[in-house]
Formats: sequence, C-alpha cells, structure tokens
Amino acid sequence: MTDAAILEQSTPDLPIRIVLVGTQHPGNIGAAARAMKTMGLGRLVLVAPEKAPNLDTAAMAAGADDLVEAAPVHATLAEAVADCALVLGCTARSRRVQLEQLDPREAAQRALAFAGQGPVALVFGRERTGLDNNELQLCHAAVHIPSDPAFSSLNLAAAVQVLSYEVRMAALGLGAATPAAIAPAPAREGLAPHAELEGFFAQLAEALDQIDFHKGRTPDSAMRKLRRLYLRAGLDSAEVRLLRGVLADTQRMAMLAARKP
Ligand code: SAH
Repeated sequence: MTDAAILEQSTPDLPIRIVLVGTQHPGNIGAAARAMKTMGLGRLVLVAPEKAPNLDTAAMAAGADDLVEAAPVHATLAEAVADCALVLGCTARSRRVQLEQLDPREAAQRALAFAGQGPVALVFGRERTGLDNNELQLCHAAVHIPSDPAFSSLNLAAAVQVLSYEVRMAALGLGAATPAAIAPAPAREGLAPHAELEGFFAQLAEALDQIDFHKGRTPDSAMRKLRRLYLRAGLDSAEVRLLRGVLADTQRMAMLAARKP
C-alpha cells in the first residue's frame, strides 16, 4: 500500500499543458478544467473553441474557473504548441494513425521525462470528430486510452481526467516506468521547439519536389514516414540548422542543374 502522506502531496507546478481543440460544448471546457485541477495541473489552452466559455462552463468547472479564465485561446494547434518540446495527441481511434502509440501511463511518464526540456502538450480533439489528420501530424506520438473497441470514445473531460490522473501518479513517483516510456536520448542543446521542426519539414517537402524525388507518386506517404523518422530522432536546434543547410545546398544544386542546357 502506498504511504498516505505521498498521495496527499501537492503536485509541483509542471510545464504540462492540456490543449482542447475545437471544443463544441462549453460545459466540457469547464469539466476538463475541473478534471485537471483535481490532479494538480493548472495550464489549460484552447484552440478555436466552437463556442466561447459561458455559464455552462462555469457550472461544470465547479471552482476551477480560474484555469478557464487564464487559458490562452489560439487559432490553430500549430500555434498552441509552437514552443513545445513534446506534443502528444489523444485519440479514440486506435492504430489508425502512423504514429507511435502510447497508453496513458506511458504518455504520463514520457511527458514528465520531457517536461525538464520544455513545455509539453497533451492534446484533445473535438467531441464529434476528434483531431483531424493534419492535427495528428503535429504530434510526436498518439495516446489511446485502451477502451472497449466496440465503444471506444470517452467523454472529452473524462479523457482529460484519465491523462491528468496518470500525470499526477507519475509526478508523485508512483507506478513503475515501463520500457515503452523510455524517452529518446536527450539532445545536447535541448530539444528544438516545434515551430523549428515545422520550418524544416516545409523546406524538406520543397526540396524533394525540386529534385523530383516522388516521380509522379503522391508525396504524402514519403513525407509521413520522414516526419516520423525526424520526430523520433529528438533533434536539437543545431541539428535542425545542419539539416536545413544540407537542404539549402541541395536546392541550390537542383536549380543550377535545371538551368544547364
Ligand atoms: N468521435 C470522436 C471522439 C471524440 S471524443 C473520434 O472518433 O475521435 C473527444 C476527445 O476525447 C478525442 O478527440 C480524444 O482526444 C479524447 N478521447 C476520447 N476517447 C479517447 C480514448 N479512448 N483514448 C484517447 N483519447 C480519447
């Protein structure tokens, strides 16, 4: 049995944010804030909510309104996670995405492991449709709560509760670290922020076009695999600059070659 004194500790203020994308029911924003606050998490971020927080939000927050009031509102997920070292996307659809998949316990352990290197985002989708493919592409890994496959979708705030609980247990040092949670070796400089990686991916897509890498095939599948590879590598800013230098020279050579008669 766990020592009661450990369970009653406050969780230290962690740079782990809960990001709600396109929430449709304002009540769920309040319920999610309450779920977080009970587990010691204080950083709520909203992305393009369908309706602004209202009286339903306050009713469901039941005293966690401070989190809603302090929540920044962004237009896109990319903007909300631009400074993050790790972005984990929660999805009710198991194994439909070409991303590494974690369970909530592994996700909480990885989130804590990365929290020393920069902000971490746990991202939740819309009540009706979840996260779209472009939003999932912004994530380093997907998190699936192993629900009954015949009825797999939890209420948004219930999903936030499960993840927040696991983060608290991990923060209190409870629960053994599982092998899947072992984080990639930390980069020397600290991990590159997400916006830098997106800049690199945009240049990579451009360069692959210029060297006719796809040869008429659609670029999506190759880009997905390349993104997965580079995201797994845990690049630091210097490594991103190096790769972009390689791309810039490749692009310059391709342009010279195209000019030759
Ligand atoms: N019909 C939607 C369900 C959305 S539920 C879909 O197919 O995706 C709202 C959000 O709660 C989801 O986007 C996800 O972030 C979270 N969620 C619900 N059930 C989940 C589960 N089993 N595992 C992980 N996240 C879940």
